[in-house]
Amino acid sequence: MAGKNYYDILGVGKTATAKEIKQAYRKLARKYHPDVNTGDKSAEAKFKEINGAHEVLSDPEKRKKYDQFGDKWQYADQFAQTGGRQPSRDFSRGGTRTTSHFEDIGDIGGGGFGDIFDSILGGFGGRRARRPQRGRDFEYPVEVSLEEAYHGAARVLETQTEEPCSSCKGDGCPSCGGVGRIIRPKRLEVRIPPGVKGGSRVRIAGKGSPGYGGGTAGDIFLLISVKPDKRFQRTGDDLHVEVPVPLLDAILGGEVQVPTIGGKKLALKIPPETQNGKVFRLSGQGMPKLGGNGKGDLLAKVNIVLPTKLSEREKELFQELKAIHA
Ligand SMILES: [Zn+2]
Repeated sequence: MAGKNYYDILGVGKTATAKEIKQAYRKLARKYHPDVNTGDKSAEAKFKEINGAHEVLSDPEKRKKYDQFGDKWQYADQFAQTGGRQPSRDFSRGGTRTTSHFEDIGDIGGGGFGDIFDSILGGFGGRRARRPQRGRDFEYPVEVSLEEAYHGAARVLETQTEEPCSSCKGDGCPSCGGVGRIIRPKRLEVRIPPGVKGGSRVRIAGKGSPGYGGGTAGDIFLLISVKPDKRFQRTGDDLHVEVPVPLLDAILGGEVQVPTIGGKKLALKIPPETQNGKVFRLSGQGMPKLGGNGKGDLLAKVNIVLPTKLSEREKELFQELKAIHA
């Protein structure tokens, strides 16, 4: 079973300053000190309780965690030590809920530490009957290359799962810190669909925390960012690429190879007298549209390359050309 609220133990408010906590602790510690209560078992227990509360509330780091996670504050450390990737947004979100539950016991909430916390913990209006509660969502930032966004990709997430405590079957006991659940790190392979865009959220349904009391599981959200590509620029589902075209091909017409994001090269006919900067549209050679409805286009922009290291003969011909053209 979870212990009493540390703030109540010291008889201070949640917003108490460090000084107020210290004063409250000293006063109580003097009162219940074993030296002045020789042989009094309840005073001894009380003294231990006071010290336990002071140890946490006098340490800004521990107090912050306690404010976020309540009795589960030590779990935050435990989880970090396992080397698991800590979904910090979700912990902090859980923390917000915990806080709101201190003030509003009646709120059902959307799942999270707070809900578990006040379902289990007596002393905040008594033990509550469990209601179905949805498991927490987790968010993970995922960066992919443009090629991966094109083909789709897989990632292995270091996430976590909650299991009912095997000692108490969910009722809460010292080995699970009173919450009835054990948090374990878990590896999860996730798929990123072809055509994914930077700034989008990919939902992996039902892979967040398990529901509670018969509630549905939370989701995992992948927060996608796409690395800039050296060759291709993306606008929506279209891609843009610059294609070097030799001067004489631009003048007389010719054929050049255009790279595509899919890896293959496509032949592009250059008509005679093609101007620098002209854009050719290669239909269906862009990014896949999410949901499998075809592809965007590839827009190939001509970048005319002038010849260098001209031979004497070439120079002569250009001179001749110049004379004619003038
Ligand atoms: Zn347990």
